Amino acid sequence: MTITAATQSDLNLKPYFMGFTPNMLFKQRPRLFVEARGNYLFGSNGERVFDGFSGLWCSGMGHCHPKIVEAVSRQIGKLDYVAAFNMSHPPAFKLAERIAGLAPKNLNNVFFTTGGSDAVDTALKIAIGYHRLNGDGTRYRIIGRERGYHGVGFGGISVGGMVANRKMFASLMLPGVDHLRHTHSLPDMAFSRGQPTWGADLAEDLERLVGLHDASSIAAVIVEPMAGSTGVLVPPVGYLEALRRICTQHGILLIFDEVICGFGRMGHNFGAQRFNVEPDMITFAKTVTNGTQPLGGVIMSDEIHDTFMSTPEQASNINHGYTYSAHPVPVAAGLAALDVFEEEGVAEQVRSKEKLFEELLHSLKGEPNVVDVRNIGFAGGVEFAPIPGQPTARGYRITQQLLDAGFYSRWSGDNATLAPPFSSTASELEQMIEAMRKVIRANAAAA
Ligand code: PLP
Repeated sequence: MTITAATQSDLNLKPYFMGFTPNMLFKQRPRLFVEARGNYLFGSNGERVFDGFSGLWCSGMGHCHPKIVEAVSRQIGKLDYVAAFNMSHPPAFKLAERIAGLAPKNLNNVFFTTGGSDAVDTALKIAIGYHRLNGDGTRYRIIGRERGYHGVGFGGISVGGMVANRKMFASLMLPGVDHLRHTHSLPDMAFSRGQPTWGADLAEDLERLVGLHDASSIAAVIVEPMAGSTGVLVPPVGYLEALRRICTQHGILLIFDEVICGFGRMGHNFGAQRFNVEPDMITFAKTVTNGTQPLGGVIMSDEIHDTFMSTPEQASNINHGYTYSAHPVPVAAGLAALDVFEEEGVAEQVRSKEKLFEELLHSLKGEPNVVDVRNIGFAGGVEFAPIPGQPTARGYRITQQLLDAGFYSRWSGDNATLAPPFSSTASELEQMIEAMRKVIRANAAAA
C-alpha cells in the first residue's frame, strides 16, 4: 500500500523543511494522511494504517476522541487566549490539581510549558534556581545519560545522549554537563522480558561522577525512567532505586523525564509509580492532551516549589514562562484527556494487556537479524543487526515496509519501536506483530 494524497501533484513539497525526517527520501515518496479515527490513520484514498506508535507516543487514547474534540471545540469559542503572566483562567488551576493528584505524593506543584523540550529546559532551570536560592549556587552541573532523549532545546540536547542529535550543535551546549553510562548491554540482557535483572550496578556510575566533579558542583540528574526514543531501554531492576539513593545522599535533585512514560504508557499514571521511585521533579507532555494540543510541564516537590516562594513578594518567583503556558485550549484538551484516562481505566487496560503484548513481541526472537526484543507496559523495541557499513538502514527499511503493509512503528536507528494505542485489541496486536515478522523475513538477506 502506498500512502499518498490524491492532491499530491498539486502540492509543493519543498517549502516545508521537516524535522527528524530524511526530507529528500520522504518527498520522493511522501506519506500523507488526511484523517484519523480511533487506532487508525487514513490516507486520501481511504488507505488505513494501524497507528502502532500512537502518533509520536502521544495519541494512546485513540484519535479524535469525541470527548476531547468536544472540549476543544467548546473552549476555542469561549476563551481562546488569556495572558499567561499575571492573569490566568480557572481550568488552568483545575488541570494543575488533577495532574498533581495523579503524581507521586510529594509532587504537588505544576509549571506549564508547551511541550516536552521546553518542559525539560524548565526543569533544568528550576533545578539550578532551587540550589541558588538555597545558597548553593556552585551546583551548576547537570548529569544526563548516554542514549537519553530530552528534546531539542539546548538544555535538552546537552543532557541528552543521542550523538546524532548532539554533534552538529556541540559548540552551543551547556557547560559542565556530564553523562552516566547507558544501561544497554546485549550480552548481559538481550531478550529480557520487562526489567532486566542485570545492570543495577550501572547506577554506581553516578558515584564516579560525584568523585570526579564533587557533589557540591552537581545540581541534578535527569533520566527517562524508560528510555523511549533510543529504542525502549527498560531500567534494570534496582537501578532507579540506586540513583535515587545516591542523589539523596549527595543533595542532588533527581528529575524523571516522563514525556513518554506519563499517563498510562507504563501501565501506571507515571513511570515513577511503575518503578516505585519518587523523583524531585517529573516532566510531562504528549499524552496529557492525548496529542491533540501542545502542552507540557514540570511537576515539582513542595520543597522545590516552596523554595521559589521565598523570593520577595513583589518579584516574579521565577523569570521564566511561555506565552502559551496553560493556554486555555490545550488545558481544555488536557482536562478532557484526563477524564478519558480515568473513565476508560487506561492504566488498568495497559496492565491487563501487557503480558499479551510481551508474548507477541518476544515471539520475534529467532527471526532473521533480530538481536534483541525489549518491553515494558505498552512500549516495545525490536533491535536488528545492522547491515555492515550501513548502520540504521535495516531499521529504516523494515519500518517503511511495515508502513506499506498498513502498520506504523517508529524507526529509531536499527530498532523498530512500538507504542500501540491503549485500547488495541488482541487481534490488532497480533496482526501488527505478524506483519512485522513477514517484513523481517522478507529482509532476511538484505545486506
Ligand atoms: N523528553 C522525552 C523523554 C521525549 O521522548 C521527548 C519527545 O519525544 C521530549 C522530551 C521532547 O518533547 P517535544 O517533542 O514535545 O518537545
